[in-house]
Amino acid sequence: MKAAMKTVRTIDELRAAVRAWRREDPDAAIGLVPTMGALHEGHLSLVGHALSHARLVIATIFVNPTQFGPGEDLASYPRDEARDAAMLEEAGCDLLFAPAPGEVYPPGFATEVRVRGLTDVLCGAHRQGHFDGVTQVVSKLLNQAQADVAVFGEKDWQQLAVIRRMTRDLDIPTRILGAPTQREPDGLAMSSRNRYLDAEQRQVAANLNRVLAAAGESAAAGADPREAEASAVSALIAAGFDRVDYVEIRDGETLEQVSVPDGRSRIFGAARLGRARLIDNMALPRPGATA
Ligand code: AMP
Repeated sequence: MKAAMKTVRTIDELRAAVRAWRREDPDAAIGLVPTMGALHEGHLSLVGHALSHARLVIATIFVNPTQFGPGEDLASYPRDEARDAAMLEEAGCDLLFAPAPGEVYPPGFATEVRVRGLTDVLCGAHRQGHFDGVTQVVSKLLNQAQADVAVFGEKDWQQLAVIRRMTRDLDIPTRILGAPTQREPDGLAMSSRNRYLDAEQRQVAANLNRVLAAAGESAAAGADPREAEASAVSALIAAGFDRVDYVEIRDGETLEQVSVPDGRSRIFGAARLGRARLIDNMALPRPGATA
């Protein structure tokens, strides 16, 4: 039986809890699941993934101001800590770290963490400074928790690639694990921002996954990747999206553009619908595999 989940709000308390665990059982692996709250089944699957690699799991809830650009939804981002905490405890989480912004960024804070290259494309090209905010906060959370593993969702594939690069480059010893995208029954990737959609937009939203999958299949079957991308953009607009930021077929590791798809290629898309900006990505079927 697990002890009741505890909530801590300061870095000192977090470190004290981790120290106590390490003292009690030096062999028990510790997992970390960073989130911005407004939790859904996708987040809980990360806790489950962490529990399959670690005996003790810390989740963090912090709506990180530095990863939101001007005009983005920082002020209106959904927050419901009591509900989140109940869901995390139910999922088997041991400790919740929910710091206030001033705890994470005290007066005088001046350090930036920037991963070049991987952050210049896809969402990085459309959300100025977003990944700098992500790497800033994730490097801090990894240092604060000193966990053995940390789990991030493949839904945010570029974020996962950037965090893997950062931990390698900065010799951060926590092992970074990716966990598969959790979807609604119609294929829409679960996201805290899906709650911005009204009923009609929610119907439109499911086309993102469908259109990307079809474009990926056509490129894997030999269509020119640039043509497959362009048709997908048109199909998304025709389906009712307000704007498409990008649809691109790129290498899953380097994120470089792909001319001839191979086993590492993925298709990535981001599109706007009302107040929501939705993203998704998936592996292309293996070249030659029949759809
Ligand atoms: P967020 O709270 O949106 O910043 O996401 C926190 C973590 O949950 C990130 O590692 C995300 O990639 C992951 N995540 C968000 N949505 C999903 C999903 N549908 N499936 C799996 N992981 C997800």
